[in-house]
Amino acid sequence: MPIYLDNAATTQVCPAAAKAALAVMTEDFGNPSARYPLGQDAARRLEADRAAVAEALGCRPSELYFTSCGTEGDNWAIRAAVRHGRRRGKHIITTAVEHAAVLEPLKDLEQQGYTVTRLKCGRDGRVSPEDLRAALREDTVLVSMMLVNNETGVIQPVEACCRMVKEYSPDILFHTDAVQGFLKVPFTPAELGVDLLTVSGHKVRAPKGIGGQYIREGLKLEPLLRGGGQEKTLRSGTEPTAQIAALAAACRAWKGEADRARMRAVKEATLERLTAQVPGLEIVSRGDAPHICAVSLPGYPSEMLVRALADQGICVSSGSACHKGKPSHVFAAMGLPKRTLMGVLRISFSPESTEAEGGALAQALAEIRAARMGL
Ligand code: PLP
Repeated sequence: MPIYLDNAATTQVCPAAAKAALAVMTEDFGNPSARYPLGQDAARRLEADRAAVAEALGCRPSELYFTSCGTEGDNWAIRAAVRHGRRRGKHIITTAVEHAAVLEPLKDLEQQGYTVTRLKCGRDGRVSPEDLRAALREDTVLVSMMLVNNETGVIQPVEACCRMVKEYSPDILFHTDAVQGFLKVPFTPAELGVDLLTVSGHKVRAPKGIGGQYIREGLKLEPLLRGGGQEKTLRSGTEPTAQIAALAAACRAWKGEADRARMRAVKEATLERLTAQVPGLEIVSRGDAPHICAVSLPGYPSEMLVRALADQGICVSSGSACHKGKPSHVFAAMGLPKRTLMGVLRISFSPESTEAEGGALAQALAEIRAARMGL
């Protein structure tokens, strides 16, 4: 097994989740819509699993809809929210540092005549509530602001921003992409005050192919998919009961603050080792969230570093950090100098990550740097 320090990209499925999925696939495999006992058992199990995920998210089970991934949830939230606000106007506010799952559907809406304001962030990766206040307009229908950035681990001031938006007008819908925040930082949708919130299973030790969408009680939205009427008609399609069981099991297995503290301690120890052992290394973001940080080795291209580390069995990401040779829009938005920007590595942890793994990364990076310098 490689040393896996790319848990913001995806996570290894935890044993409890794999076991739950296998049991549903091979034994409790009924269709929850079927009327006979195998189907009715599946329906009961589905609702118990929904309750477990809703409890982990801090919402009512009736407010949680299962989707296939975070991308689906982000796209759904945005499209449904603008349709909801169509009589109010065509202005949307987001941030310059969102994931592509938010930025791309918004680009599409721009083609359809919507105006999108993208809030800039500071050198610390955070957007300012004052900038949001200045951007609000009579025709604003939606604000979409992520909770935790996937490249920097920075937590955006969603609660303060949402409160301000609702004071300006309760008719503006607020969506947050909480894909990197779910279970990693403490929050509930009600505390944040948001109308819509998106999460994804494969970031929290469940398999790929399952996501969750919080829709505030009372908010009436257009269905994402029309068909057999599953998910209270909003997201038709036979429920992926194995993936849902796995997500529920991963949520039940999550140890809350203990897991967060473990990840934070390993991250801090890793950053310490990296700065001590790798000359020239810069910390780009320590990350507010416990599982993500970003560093740079200016003058050493990320792609080269990722490949050289992979040769030594270590997985980290330039990931979104260097998409198809282009520098990350997130680090560019932070105004990093070009040499720093081109050398960014994202390191991300799970509760299973160890200080020894962080130490091995520091050692390997120091050796790669020395070899490249011909030392
Ligand atoms: N939003 C953020 C912040 C992410 O980090 C990701 C995945 O990396 C997504 C959305 C997309 O989630 P999924 O891979 O489940 O589609």
